[in-house]
Amino acid sequence: MDTPRSPWQEIATTAWPSLKKDLQSDVAIVGGGISGIATLFYLLTLTDKQIVLVERGKIGCGATGNNAGFAWAHIERPVSELVEEFGFEPVKEAFLELDHGWDEYIRIHKLIGLENNVEPLDNSGLGFGFTDTATLERSLQDGALFRKMGRKKWEFFISEEIEMEGEGIHRVPREVILEKLQTKDPSYIGLLYDSVDRARTNSYLFCHRLLQYLKNRFPDRFEVYEQTEITQIEKNTLKFSSGTITADVLVICTNGYSKKAAPRAAYAAACSTSLPNDYSAAFITHQDPSVPYWHVTNCDSLTIFAGPEYANPALDLDEWNKTFALITQFTQRTYHFNPTFQYQWYGIMGYTPTGLRWVGQDRQNPHIWYNLGCNGIGIVHAVASGERIARLLNGETLKPSLFSQFQS
Ligand SMILES: Cc1cc2nc3c(=O)[nH]c(=O)nc-3n(C[C@H](O)[C@H](O)[C@H](O)COP(=O)(O)OP(=O)(O)OC[C@H]3O[C@@H](n4cnc5c(N)ncnc54)[C@H](O)[C@@H]3O)c2cc1C
Repeated sequence: MDTPRSPWQEIATTAWPSLKKDLQSDVAIVGGGISGIATLFYLLTLTDKQIVLVERGKIGCGATGNNAGFAWAHIERPVSELVEEFGFEPVKEAFLELDHGWDEYIRIHKLIGLENNVEPLDNSGLGFGFTDTATLERSLQDGALFRKMGRKKWEFFISEEIEMEGEGIHRVPREVILEKLQTKDPSYIGLLYDSVDRARTNSYLFCHRLLQYLKNRFPDRFEVYEQTEITQIEKNTLKFSSGTITADVLVICTNGYSKKAAPRAAYAAACSTSLPNDYSAAFITHQDPSVPYWHVTNCDSLTIFAGPEYANPALDLDEWNKTFALITQFTQRTYHFNPTFQYQWYGIMGYTPTGLRWVGQDRQNPHIWYNLGCNGIGIVHAVASGERIARLLNGETLKPSLFSQFQS
């Protein structure tokens, strides 16, 4: 087995000390991934609170340093299903919140001089490829809802042998679909273009650079500790092996490591290919959840294949080898080439029971706040949620969000 290694972590970083004594602070953040760092950023910029952040490993060592590097304002559940469950307006508001998170992700990059870390995947919004009509129909319903929300460009190219009519549908020869997807696999019958921004990004780099920026701008307002694992929470106190941290507010940004969100492992690999630059496409073969959903991006000569997910996050050699054999089969079937992967890695994602992020205050213990539950897509969410928590802690009254409707 190769050592799991993502391309994102290949940068020089500053090490932070581990905590060896008791501490007191206004706010303590647990978890040094993008959720924790974004929460820290907004608390520093929107409030005057004193903050401590503790991370059990190294900053960004979780999903933030091991994802597929694809920033977008999306939720990994069909929007039609969300609207059925929560109603149209709350779901629309949730997407607006995520669109704002996207704008903020770009703004913060500019603020810290890291613009190049958001590289648009600008192939005119190429989205999803479909092989079955049921999934395609569901996506058509989603398209109609997204158009109603103002996400206007939601167009389908559907093979002309399929009888489907509707707004935004173009019936074309199947070869056109295969060409647009760049695939040699003839089973694709439909294709979706949407207007949602997409970019390749390194969220690990973002966290490390943002921390440096914050250290220069707010040298006396916060402390960061690595290799400091919180083992217990009691009222307003966090316990770790050599002491305690007491704070009015404890923000838990631990992704799936918390028992609140079930962990699932996701795998990815990267190599160079002949796919066009700025290419991105998702391949949904059919509705069976046991069949992997594939996501491919090519940017700066590195093609990332993200796909199989497993409920058991324990890494074992057999599973590792089987998984990368699956990724290889996918590249052979889809693009007719044999990959030599430069990187193969996996990361842990925290899935909440609703598939929606948890952002807000615990109902039993008012000291505890959550910004967690990546649910497969979490880079932009983490930023939007960090801002929401800081605003609430600053005393602002915000409308309830789809992401705060959890039972703690
Ligand atoms: C393979 C893969 C592909 C993905 N692809 C994408 C993508 O393309 N686009 C996208 O938007 N999202 C993607 N995601 C999801 C995205 O990476 C996550 O939503 C996001 O990084 C989560 O950030 P986080 O800070 O919440 O969690 P993490 O980055 O996991 O950070 C949580 C941190 O908490 C620390 N911690 C846990 N317990 C404790 C404790 N007891 N004490 C102290 N510290 C603790 C951990 O060490 C960890 O560093 C992907 C995830 C994976 C795994």
